[in-house]
Amino acid sequence: MSNKKIIVANWKMNPTTLREAKSIFSGIKKQVLNLRNIEIVICPPAVYLGEIKKLLSGKKISLGAQNCFEEEKGAWTGKISPEMLKTSGAKFVILGHSENRKEGEDNETINQKIKLALKNDLNVIVCVGEKERDKEGGHFVYIKEQILDALLNIRKNYLKNILIAYEPVWAIGKDATDDITKKQLQEVVVFIKKVLVEKYNIKDFKDVKILYGGSVNYKNIEELVSTDANGYLVGRDSLNVDKFGKLLQIVNEI
Ligand code: PEP
Repeated sequence: MSNKKIIVANWKMNPTTLREAKSIFSGIKKQVLNLRNIEIVICPPAVYLGEIKKLLSGKKISLGAQNCFEEEKGAWTGKISPEMLKTSGAKFVILGHSENRKEGEDNETINQKIKLALKNDLNVIVCVGEKERDKEGGHFVYIKEQILDALLNIRKNYLKNILIAYEPVWAIGKDATDDITKKQLQEVVVFIKKVLVEKYNIKDFKDVKILYGGSVNYKNIEELVSTDANGYLVGRDSLNVDKFGKLLQIVNEI
C-alpha cells in the first residue's frame, strides 16, 4: 500500500449481472486514467473477480473481496476462503462489515478471518463503528473494543497490511439517520490512530491507516477530505460511474 489516499468501492450484492459489472468497472477505469494521487480498490461480488481481473491494467486499481471464511478449506458449503480470493485476483478483503456483524458475525470470528487473510497475503480492511452515538462518549469504548478484539494476537509486522475503516452504522447506507461532521470524523480518526499507536507501540501516526465509510459522495467529500483519514470506503455511489468519477477526481486534486 502506498501513501496515496485510498478509495475503496464496496459494490455489495450489486450489480446483478457480470455484464453490468464489467461495464461499471470499465467506466471507472476510464475515469481514473489521468489521476495520479490516489489508489483505488474495487470490491465486486466475489464471483465477478476472475472476469474483472482480466480488465485490470496498471497499478492504480486493485481488486478486493467483501468477506471471506475463517477456514482454509473443507466441508463448508458455499464458503469462500482467502486463498480462493487471492488466486481469483483480490489483493484486499473487507472484514467485519456492519451488515455481516448484524447477521451474527462477532469480533472473535472477525479476528480469525483477519489472521487467515493476512496469512494468505491479502490486505485487510477491518470495519468498525458504533450503532449509535453516545453523549458520554461510550462509542469510543465500543470502537476500541472492536479494534482490540479484531486484532488480538496479530503482530506489528502486519500493520502495513491492515486498514481500519471507521463506519458508524448510523451514517451508512440508504437508512442512514445522520451525516457525520468533519469534527466528529477527525475525533474518531485521531482516537483510532492512538489506539493502534498504543497497542503496537509505534512512533509515527503515519504508519497507521484509517478509512472512513458512511454515505461518502462527491458532494460531502470536500469537507471530509480535510480530516486525517487516509481514504474512504464508498458503497452506493461507487456503482455510479459519473458520481464515483467526480468523487475520485476531487480526492485526487486535494
Ligand atoms: C458501506 O456500507 O460500507 C458504505 C460505506 O455504504 P454507503 O456509502 O452506501 O453508505
